[in-house]
Amino acid sequence: MSFDLDSISTAWQASEALCSGKVSSEAHTRALLERLRALEPRLNAFLAILDDEALAAAARYDENRSAFASPLAGVPGAIKDNMCLIGAPNTCGSKILAGWKPPYNATVVNAILDAGGVILGKTNLDEFAMGSSTENSAFKVTSNPWDFSRVPGGSSGGSAAAVAAGAAFWALGSDTGGSIRQPAAFCGLVGLKPTYGRVSRYGLVAYASSLDQIGPLTRDVRDAALVMNLLAAHDPLDSTSWPEPAPDYTKSLVNDVSGMTIGVPKEFFGQGVEEDVASAVWAAIRLLEQKGARVKEISMPNVEYALPVYYIIAPAEASSNLARYDGVRYGHRTEMQCDHVAMFEQTRAEGFGAEVKQRIMIGTYALSAGYYDAYYLKAQQVRTLLRRDFDAAFETCDLLITPTAPTTAFRIGERSSDPFQMKLSDVCTIPVNLAGIPGMSVPCGFSNGLPVGMQLLGPAFGEETLFRAAYTFEQSTDYHLARPDLRPCGESH
Ligand code: GLN
Repeated sequence: MSFDLDSISTAWQASEALCSGKVSSEAHTRALLERLRALEPRLNAFLAILDDEALAAAARYDENRSAFASPLAGVPGAIKDNMCLIGAPNTCGSKILAGWKPPYNATVVNAILDAGGVILGKTNLDEFAMGSSTENSAFKVTSNPWDFSRVPGGSSGGSAAAVAAGAAFWALGSDTGGSIRQPAAFCGLVGLKPTYGRVSRYGLVAYASSLDQIGPLTRDVRDAALVMNLLAAHDPLDSTSWPEPAPDYTKSLVNDVSGMTIGVPKEFFGQGVEEDVASAVWAAIRLLEQKGARVKEISMPNVEYALPVYYIIAPAEASSNLARYDGVRYGHRTEMQCDHVAMFEQTRAEGFGAEVKQRIMIGTYALSAGYYDAYYLKAQQVRTLLRRDFDAAFETCDLLITPTAPTTAFRIGERSSDPFQMKLSDVCTIPVNLAGIPGMSVPCGFSNGLPVGMQLLGPAFGEETLFRAAYTFEQSTDYHLARPDLRPCGESH
């Protein structure tokens, strides 16, 4: 069975094609595998392509369609290479995990597979999800399908590039300080970081455990709701998992924001935010106002401390989480013949990249006796102040709208020697993880041919409000329908 892949671009359209019997999951899967292999030399989105496993999952669905009720059954997607999938390599973009295969599935992976989903492969990321461009991967640098000389964002850059290039209908990312939302913005996708605790972290390799969440990267809001319906559930294997059942997010795909109050916090539009980005986001806010929402400018004075607070808390948690890579339990071990302490040291010196080493050192320092009160404890106190700013905002606002990132996608190499500039690209997303609330990036315009994303924020477990506002915006605009031109340079129509 052959078909025109270009006529289907979202997961829900793929699902409709499957249900109508027009096309099999195997045909979808083969077509996507072919496309992603053709693109991969330029795109570098994948660390592992799982042809056999994907085709086997597709065949399982094709042979017994009635056994799978989920709209994502038979629909191929991809997962970030920090989520455990039995039998597949799980590198986290690090040499220290090269060759390691997890003996169990992440809870989200089980949810996808049990629903009849097809996993095409594992996508590239900044090493241990530390970065904003995917340039910190130990293996390859992923390109942005909108301009191959630019980064796709990070750390879930491989997932974003794969979906934006039409090589996967959906993808999972993880977000500790913006790693789903910023790549979504850079690649013109919808990306959702759920409320902390809404999606299980079991089987997600930990970076900073009090901030990490898994979520979808998709081409439109409906697809994000479909993926969230699979991901959001209580999981007894994750002690921070929220016990209440999740709603059906597709019920929030309602084209109506009348009566909603949108807060616009001025601190998110400050220095460093490109004019085109600010004006695209403001145009989106005005559109929602025309559709019946009320708009209110507000102030959140503690947002300016979010970046320094994050860069104490995240490295502190990382230094503790990454202590387990010792050359004994996982992956790489040095070949040097030495005693066991020297073996630990040498293994870690060989296995970790520069960014990860720097963060482990900063985190260890911040947690060490004598400095703990001055750094870690202080950062936690300021985190509480920041959280209170959000609580106060949501007393009078149903949702907040900000830019997702201050700029559009930057050039590969442009910021890798300037860590401060690199970290500034997360200035709008990091406060959200510190507060534990949900954040969604939605395409809202273009600047010089590059996508711009706006960020919608809601109170804890307020994902439904985000879906409703995002869907309403999408119904009146066509930014989500734009597709990058993937022809190699110089090739004409
Ligand atoms: N860019 C941020 C960092 O480097 C956030 C990364 C993430 O969300 N995983 O820590």
